[in-house]
Amino acid sequence: ATLPYDDQNIFAKILRGEIPSKTVFENEFALAFNDIAPQAPTHILVIPKGAYVSWDDFSARAPDAEILGFVRAVGEVARAAGLVTSGYRLLANTGLDSHQEVPHLHVHIFAGQPLGPMLI
Ligand code: 5GP
Repeated sequence: ATLPYDDQNIFAKILRGEIPSKTVFENEFALAFNDIAPQAPTHILVIPKGAYVSWDDFSARAPDAEILGFVRAVGEVARAAGLVTSGYRLLANTGLDSHQEVPHLHVHIFAGQPLGPMLI
């Protein structure tokens, strides 16, 4: 069962402009900003503008237009950041076993060096 959305989560506050972030992309569907604790030379978080707890919540509940807009936005962020030639990794932690820390869906984009095999 998905938790109810908590509008006091840190990414909701970033979306409302209540706490600062380094925006790298924004459109109707998505906001992208640099991770505060980067784990690769490029580490961007892409979040939907809508209030969704996780990938599970979003994929089950979001209107088709929001899903399409968000998926396209993730690709656009990577292209705008010049990551396509060298490549990048996407990750969306979802739920308790994943160690998801912030309960607003976010897709991590890792890039900027050879990333090696996934550990898990
Ligand atoms: P998760 O573990 O939920 O998949 O990832 C949460 C990510 O959010 C972590 O990589 C963490 O560094 C990042 N993060 C947490 N708080 C903030 C914040 O206030 N600003 C930014 N830019 N990133 C944050």
